[in-house]
Amino acid sequence: MGIAEKEIKKFEQNRVVDEAIFYQAMEEIVYSIAPLLESDARYQKYAILERLVVPDRVIKFKVAWINDKNEIEVNTGYRVQFNNTLGPYKGGLRFHPSVNEGVLKFLGFEQIFKNALTGLPIGGAKGGSDFNPKGRSEFEIMRFCTAYMQELHKYIGARIDVPAGDIGVGCREIGYLFGAYKKITATYDGVLTGKPFVFGGSLMRPEATGYGVVYFTQAMLEMQKRESLQGKICTVSGAGNVALHTIEKLYQVGAIPVTCSDSGGMIYDPHGVDLALLQEIKNVQRGSLEKYVETRTGAKYISVSEYPIEEHPVWSTPCYAAFPCATQNELNEADAKNLIANGCMCVAEGANMPSTPQAIELFLNQKISFAPAKAANAGGVAVSGLEMSQNASMKRWSFEKVDAKLKEIMHQICKTVSLTALEYGVEGNFVDGANIAGFKRVADAMIAEGV
Ligand code: NDP
Repeated sequence: MGIAEKEIKKFEQNRVVDEAIFYQAMEEIVYSIAPLLESDARYQKYAILERLVVPDRVIKFKVAWINDKNEIEVNTGYRVQFNNTLGPYKGGLRFHPSVNEGVLKFLGFEQIFKNALTGLPIGGAKGGSDFNPKGRSEFEIMRFCTAYMQELHKYIGARIDVPAGDIGVGCREIGYLFGAYKKITATYDGVLTGKPFVFGGSLMRPEATGYGVVYFTQAMLEMQKRESLQGKICTVSGAGNVALHTIEKLYQVGAIPVTCSDSGGMIYDPHGVDLALLQEIKNVQRGSLEKYVETRTGAKYISVSEYPIEEHPVWSTPCYAAFPCATQNELNEADAKNLIANGCMCVAEGANMPSTPQAIELFLNQKISFAPAKAANAGGVAVSGLEMSQNASMKRWSFEKVDAKLKEIMHQICKTVSLTALEYGVEGNFVDGANIAGFKRVADAMIAEGV
């Protein structure tokens, strides 16, 4: 292949804007809210849906930066500001090679309703880059974050748009992004959440999404008169921020999490995963899960190359409750069948939209207690909202205070979702309950604000 063809191929790869995932998210909402649209003509009169499915703006920009070999690399940066009816745009930044406009539109769209469910005054957005942080040195990450913020700073602000973390963007990256923002703008304000505690981060923000998933699950099981998580075997996918804190909280409530995974493979540890070892491998060494079995006898590592076609072995591991915490569409129909066949009674989504529509249909038909991401993983953004409050009032809350607030918010979301499902004739269907309740809050505010 000549140099010209190689260059053209690169451009073609970048040109693909795959929106299938966004349509998947949108269709779920539309089907759920159909009864609401039929029962209240205002939503159609004010064209709420037509206005909601189009982002307020999509910002797309070049990020040129210099790697450790003194070579120039170019990535694409994005911020999708979807809807700010309820408050400043709010949603995470994702650094992953799979990031494109379609993925960020799906995540930003979901974020509108999730944020609405928290009851806090925050709108919906999402952003990120196709930059792959894997294998990059600390200084490369720092230079990339600085270059990314060089453009992003023009569009964000404590009362405009407040990004946070997501896949590939943790506390370290938020720290570098904040540092760059401050230097470029000479402004010190709460423009990002998930900051390190040493300069304005909230206690409990790193834990919030995973802990929140478990709080929500406990509330849901209690409401649906199912057995609690105490003493139960649980399966978890992912080995990042959400997965590790879900595992941590599962142990705290007496459950036994036996799996985790990353993009290379999965661990099955029948006695319960060793959280300290996992934290060391993932947070300190930033290595692959394969290392886990080097020191932990009795555990099994299965690499992706050994996975059966179309099935993820995490979901064929017998369990009482399953927690998909890695990424979108990671749990398909075959996986759902495996879970049900092995006695799973509860699925709670830590990741955003990890279950395919076919899997969700099966869970609902089989009366599995199903906690959709929009509701179950809202704890992260809820504590981000609390971080914004602390920054604005120049106060810092204790771990206990934030934890108690988080628990209260997750219980409140669970109650709202359950009551909404009951009101619209779909008792126990938390997918419809979450979609209708989230949509209604935003839609009513849109009507009140005018066109
Ligand atoms: P992290 O980057 O900390 O961890 C992501 C984990 O998922 C890693 O173990 C990663 O493995 C794995 N993973 C990512 N992509 C894939 C893939 N395509 N196939 C297999 N494994 C994959 O991200 P978070 O834990 O923050 O986010 C996980 C999920 O939770 C995402 O869906 C995110 O949108 C959602 N979420 C996160 C919130 C937060 O507060 N952080 C809030 C609400 C939702 P590897 O390291 O090998 O790539």
